[in-house]
Amino acid sequence: MDKFNHVDAVVLGLGAMGSAAAYHLARRGRRVLGIEQYTAAHDRGSSHGRSRIIREAYFEHPDYVPLLQRAYDLWGTLQTEGGSRLLLPTGGLMIGPEDGILVQGALASARTHHLPHELLTSREVRRRYPAFAVKDETVAVWEPRAGVLFPEYGVLAHLRGASRSGAELKMEERVLAWQPRDGGVEVRTDKDRYTADRLIVTAGPWAGPILSDLGLPLRVERNVMYWFQPSEAAPFAPDRLPIYIYEYRREGFIYGFPQVGRDGVKVAHHHSGEFCTPETIRRDVTPEEVHRMRDILAGTLPGLNGDLLQAVTCMYTNTPDGHFIIDRHPRHPQVILACGFSGHGFKFAPVVGEILAELATYGHTRHPIELFQLARFSTRAPRRPGAAPG
Ligand SMILES: Cc1cc2nc3c(=O)[nH]c(=O)nc-3n(C[C@H](O)[C@H](O)[C@H](O)COP(=O)(O)OP(=O)(O)OC[C@H]3O[C@@H](n4cnc5c(N)ncnc54)[C@H](O)[C@@H]3O)c2cc1C
Repeated sequence: MDKFNHVDAVVLGLGAMGSAAAYHLARRGRRVLGIEQYTAAHDRGSSHGRSRIIREAYFEHPDYVPLLQRAYDLWGTLQTEGGSRLLLPTGGLMIGPEDGILVQGALASARTHHLPHELLTSREVRRRYPAFAVKDETVAVWEPRAGVLFPEYGVLAHLRGASRSGAELKMEERVLAWQPRDGGVEVRTDKDRYTADRLIVTAGPWAGPILSDLGLPLRVERNVMYWFQPSEAAPFAPDRLPIYIYEYRREGFIYGFPQVGRDGVKVAHHHSGEFCTPETIRRDVTPEEVHRMRDILAGTLPGLNGDLLQAVTCMYTNTPDGHFIIDRHPRHPQVILACGFSGHGFKFAPVVGEILAELATYGHTRHPIELFQLARFSTRAPRRPGAAPG
């Protein structure tokens, strides 16, 4: 093996998580090689679509809150360093039945961590935020620190920061396989071979195949983002409409944003139930799907009824319990994986990058990541590591 191709760490996949890992490793003075099969901030994975929600009263579990608080700080630092806007604070609303998982979960996180919040009645929601139609029995948790992240700019800021700190980033190069070697790893791509002391796998929806020896319980789900023209712009302006999640029927969620650019107002359904792989995902959006979204909007945001300007697909990589996987490979501790972000990972990208850099450098992290352990799932019998299909 050519000594020249040996690095401290290879980062496999440079989406939200890999770009952040490369940044934090390079900042610690590690020799990093990042490998990405497409281009920087491309639109074929999970980290595109011009906006992402960040929120703090986290309905999914109170254990995410300390990580979120670190993520807010790190997004702020990255924004200052890079000079382009990465986060627009708007406040956030979690709207739904009072005993629903959204409202109850957001309240649990807010109360556990003493976060500023308000519980609004349907009347208050209508008065303050005229874009929403809400039933009388609906309530909302309002939180002040939520806002909009700009995902492509976030990925690019991490990549630029990583390069500035000496990371080597290879675009349009695909990892075909990896294997443990002499306590480190050997990584084979469609262009070259490399060796490294550590391998960090941040392959998003491609994680299952490249970690096929682990038999990870991941399911990739196709989801659609829609941009509609509102009938009237004022109620959808960022100073009138916060980011929101709306439980419009039991455990059925839409979420959305105020109008942040000139290309309409973005809204989406959380969890479509249409499973796929990165190879089989259906990228076209049918008139029936658009019609179904318009039906939901008629009862929730009735003013969002103008032309459809764009509809774009994106993939979630779901775990059975909806919590992330961030851990070391059980048989090859020099391999660290971060995947299964289950449609809610973007906001955490900088803190996940920091965790991965700490795991790769010290073997442990200061951050609480017990919720994300791989051991919570039973894994299949070991197979040959890193064999990509086909
Ligand atoms: C529609 C939609 C809306 C979302 N909304 C939110 C939100 O509002 N807030 C939020 O926090 N999160 C949200 N998420 C989730 C969040 O965007 C993802 O959890 C996050 O972007 C996942 O990042 P990742 O780095 O794991 O995956 P990706 O960004 O997909 O990165 C994986 C990268 O690995 C590369 N790769 C894979 N295999 C190889 C290989 N063999 N060789 C080389 N390169 C490889 C891929 O090309 C890709 O670039 C949303 C996701 C979607 C799809």
